[in-house]
Amino acid sequence: MKCKVCGSEYTKVVYNGKIRDGGIDVWTEKDITIYQCDDCKVLWHENLYDDIKGFYEGTEYRNQVNGNSSETHFYELHDGESADKFRYTGTKIFRDKVVADIGCGAGAWLDFVKGTAKETIGIEPSKVFRDLIQHKGIKAFPYAEDAKTVYKGEVDVITSFDVIEHVENPASFLSDIYELLAPGGEAIVGTPTDTPVMRGLLGEVYERMILFTAQHLWVFAPENMKLMAERVGFSDIQFRCFQTYDFTNLLAWLQYKKPLSIGGNFGTPQKKVNYDFVTETLNAVYKSELEKNFMGDYFVSYLKK
Ligand SMILES: [Zn+2]
Repeated sequence: MKCKVCGSEYTKVVYNGKIRDGGIDVWTEKDITIYQCDDCKVLWHENLYDDIKGFYEGTEYRNQVNGNSSETHFYELHDGESADKFRYTGTKIFRDKVVADIGCGAGAWLDFVKGTAKETIGIEPSKVFRDLIQHKGIKAFPYAEDAKTVYKGEVDVITSFDVIEHVENPASFLSDIYELLAPGGEAIVGTPTDTPVMRGLLGEVYERMILFTAQHLWVFAPENMKLMAERVGFSDIQFRCFQTYDFTNLLAWLQYKKPLSIGGNFGTPQKKVNYDFVTETLNAVYKSELEKNFMGDYFVSYLKK
């Protein structure tokens, strides 16, 4: 199997078996083979959907991952994430700018950005969510390709979080972003890492239950992201690493071999586990050490045109 990003012949199978299909404890019917490229480090599996576009355009995806696709439920799940997103972007780049968010859902993040931006554009395949954001004064398009018909070369800032790992062709995803951006514009693209700490300690248990999922066709790293971004024309490319989950989460995983300390993202809230000896300081140190050493669970690409 040739690498789908860099074309290298040096690839290997790193996993074969059932993986998560949406929420926790929901499994793919078939065994899935995960490949990794020795050269650019990308991990991937084949798309499992006959109609992957239709899957994201309807309500099936949000229902599967979040339990339901209502607006209130969306904000309950996602409003908390906007603080993380401001950590990735800072607050200074939006004022009086044309800002687009790709994969914006019901617009939880753009609602905050809209306060300072000149114009906000939401790109979201789900029609239900597109109708919602239009009512809030955000311009809506199903795909970047559609937004290009109006905004080609005119967007100052593009954000996209937790999207690129879902798309079949990440190179053309980045190329659309490049074309949408105005000269000097910047894209900020966030995606999960292969969570080296959890993977190293828990191996297949963690891979099967969290890391590899039917909907994430890719797990990226700076090496392969840089390669793709350079090919489409970006020249100023930077990366930063972040750690979302705390030390308590790591310990709970080691003890129970499943996700117990997290709420939110995965449908029904999970039971919260606490350890008396894990102080806020310890959690903060754990996170900052992982971030400093680029071993966190998330990384963000800063791509300037
Ligand atoms: Zn490769």
